[in-house]
Amino acid sequence: MKIVVCIKQVPDTSDIKWTENNTMQREGVESIINPFDLYAIEQALNIKKKLDNVEITALSMGPLQAEEILKYAISLGCDNGVLLTDKKFAGADTYATGKALAAGIKLLGYDLILCGQFAIDGDTAQTGPSIASQLKIPQVTFVKNLERYEENSLYAIRELEDGEETVKVELPALVCVLKGDYETTRPTINGIKKAQNSLITKYSLEDIGLTTDDTGIKGSPTYVSKAFRPEHNRGECTYCQTYASLAGKIKEYINE
Ligand code: FAD
Repeated sequence: MKIVVCIKQVPDTSDIKWTENNTMQREGVESIINPFDLYAIEQALNIKKKLDNVEITALSMGPLQAEEILKYAISLGCDNGVLLTDKKFAGADTYATGKALAAGIKLLGYDLILCGQFAIDGDTAQTGPSIASQLKIPQVTFVKNLERYEENSLYAIRELEDGEETVKVELPALVCVLKGDYETTRPTINGIKKAQNSLITKYSLEDIGLTTDDTGIKGSPTYVSKAFRPEHNRGECTYCQTYASLAGKIKEYINE
């Protein structure tokens, strides 16, 4: 089974700065793997533990420095890492990002595609569904766990507002994995050694068979017209008032 796990590099900061094009400033900012993508990797590793002939490829679209998170994915147990990297991808919205990732996935071959719940910076949760619609394959979202595998299908447990349901889906399919209430795998010494010696495959726009009409700014039907930080008025927000009052009480308690 060929599994592709989509992982995104995100800024390791809550102090987001904006460029003049109203997109996020990513240069010069420490980056990490999107924490929710660790749960997607975990589901892939679980499948590998249970089945023979499973190959896990971690895939990211981003600048060259995203190589680091792909190596991190290998240190956790993924077999290889692929990076879609090209200045021509810059400015891609979620539609264009989905299109580029789908083209990369097509090139790699796939039975199962796993995505995280959402990215902590962009936070749209659109990329997974966008990839599935580009590839015209079924998608299952809000998945807590992948349970059983039967010939060409798998059973996914979905979290609902008032319970859960088990969905059987035929492969190839895309699954968006929720944050679980379990500890995710940590890198092993052997994993770190393997990651250090691994070469990350890099694909450009042309390599994945797209043109500048398909992705990047030109291929993006949406654009950010305005980005701003909401004014915070502690006096008017009941949540902030409760928080401030609690924080005050904690301070008093500590000082006593
Ligand atoms: P979500 O959809 O919330 O992510 C869900 C899951 O999808 C993730 O958990 C992960 O599994 C997968 N995923 C998401 N993104 C990636 C990825 N890149 N690689 C692999 N897997 C992924 N961003 C830039 O970095 N540079 C830009 O210049 C830029 N310009 C933009 C211009 C416009 C007009 C818009 C609307 C957005 C722009 N963005 C840019 C943001 C970019 O489009 C999104 O970050 C990207 O589409 C992913 O969306 P998201 O962050 O909401 O991820």
